[in-house]
Amino acid sequence: MSFSEIYKKIDQNKIKKIIYSATENDVERILKKSRWSVDDFPYLVSPVAEKFIEQMAKISRKITFLRFGKTIKLYAPLYVSNSCVNACKYCGFNVNNKFPRITLSIDEVLKEADEIFSHGIGHILLVSGEDKKAVPVEYFEEIVKRLREKFYAVSIEVYPMETEEYERLSKAGVTGIAVYQETYNLERYRELHKGPKADFFYRLETPERAAKAGFRELGLGTLFGLSDFRVDLSMVAIHARYLMKHYWKSQVAISFPRLRDAEGHFKPYEIVNDKQLAQVIFALRMVLNDVDIVLSTRENPEFRDGMVGLGVTRISAGSKTNPGGYSVHTDALKQFEIADERSPEEIARMIEEKGLEPVWKDFDKSFLFD
Ligand code: SF4
Repeated sequence: MSFSEIYKKIDQNKIKKIIYSATENDVERILKKSRWSVDDFPYLVSPVAEKFIEQMAKISRKITFLRFGKTIKLYAPLYVSNSCVNACKYCGFNVNNKFPRITLSIDEVLKEADEIFSHGIGHILLVSGEDKKAVPVEYFEEIVKRLREKFYAVSIEVYPMETEEYERLSKAGVTGIAVYQETYNLERYRELHKGPKADFFYRLETPERAAKAGFRELGLGTLFGLSDFRVDLSMVAIHARYLMKHYWKSQVAISFPRLRDAEGHFKPYEIVNDKQLAQVIFALRMVLNDVDIVLSTRENPEFRDGMVGLGVTRISAGSKTNPGGYSVHTDALKQFEIADERSPEEIARMIEEKGLEPVWKDFDKSFLFD
């Protein structure tokens, strides 16, 4: 059964009811357990569970160290194009926003990648707007073949593709995808999206198509500020659990960026504060012990530093969110403003000062059998 079919059977109102009617007794009962499941998640992210955040932080820290050791993986995004055919109401790359669109040539991408690699980062995430004409599958194929000579992991955060297209990219060397559903509230999703991205269920099944094509990593997530974040993350947890069960050869990574200023000045549905975001991270770690939890440079340095060692296992470093931003077109429009401007070296130092180890590389082609 595909996740779309499962999605249609889930009563999100019921999840919402649990979240907002949970009592302290419920949370205490859940916290006494020694293992947690996604059914416990709505209680753990309930407003009343905020009072138990320190207890949750301790549990999350313990599980994270047990499963991942004292390590934090580093990666950097490389924006290859800001051309997009969609009109997502909250995004600066929206097709209706008038600004010069840039797509990097293959040589420019390699130059940007060299700049990232010179800081020691071995995991690169290629990001683009959703425009298949500007950045066709062949473009990524060509780039990835070249990047795999240096980088141990090359993931993509681009438009959703068919399984056969993912197979081509997997063969070329792509190791993972990130495809955020943005919100799991179907009605809200349809209000916010125009263009091919408006096809909610095609997007929802993207990680499954990628897993079938053999990608080692599947990135899921929502954008906080589009709908009720507690319900959305409860859905992410269920989605991640489904993928972990059915596509166990792939590692699942979860990201939950908070909406930030972008061209178009979209007004968020709600603002998620630092304490609430921390609670989500701890709850997620408790119910999904093995997922990578990712924090991008959208988040401020204080928050990122605080979360390192408590549940997060991967962070971006030294990011630029405009195509060519590292060395080629430093003034191109950014997708969103960055809150943590520190260099990869500074981030690594921060991780070490906390008694943890920054991981620049955690895989090698020689681990593959064929
Ligand atoms: S969120 Fe993605 S698909 Fe939507 S407008 Fe921005 S770049 Fe395009």
